Amino acid sequence: MWTLDEGISRLKESGTKITAQRIAILKRLEGRKDHPSAEQIYQELKRDFPTISFATIYSTAQLLAEKKLIQILTVDDKRVNYDPDPEPHGHFRCTACGHIEDIPITESLVETLKMGQDSTVSSVQLYMYGLCPSCNVR
Ligand SMILES: [Zn+2]
Ligand SMILES: [Zn+2]
Repeated sequence: MWTLDEGISRLKESGTKITAQRIAILKRLEGRKDHPSAEQIYQELKRDFPTISFATIYSTAQLLAEKKLIQILTVDDKRVNYDPDPEPHGHFRCTACGHIEDIPITESLVETLKMGQDSTVSSVQLYMYGLCPSCNVR
């Protein structure tokens, strides 16, 4: 996970223009574990940046993903979610409350899933669905 300062310097190093809106989006994502949706980020930023658009959030997220600062998740078929943890890991989404939880992906799990194939894996998207512990008891 990166800090806001590290995120900004990573963008600067790669020659990306630093704008107030880009910094604000980075700041909103820094250290978050709740996998916020684009809509959520938009609502949170609208107060300070009344002119911010969805397009800005989408394109900035795309940029941050290219620079390996975030992952863009499609675990929910109705929206995209952002994850500031760029390290490979899977996700579990509760179909009742929408909560998204991290699932560790180990080297040996990837090997198991490959079933002996010789291919080289460069990224993994693992999505699981079901009921989270608190929805399960209801
Ligand atoms: Zn739940
Ligand atoms: Zn995650």
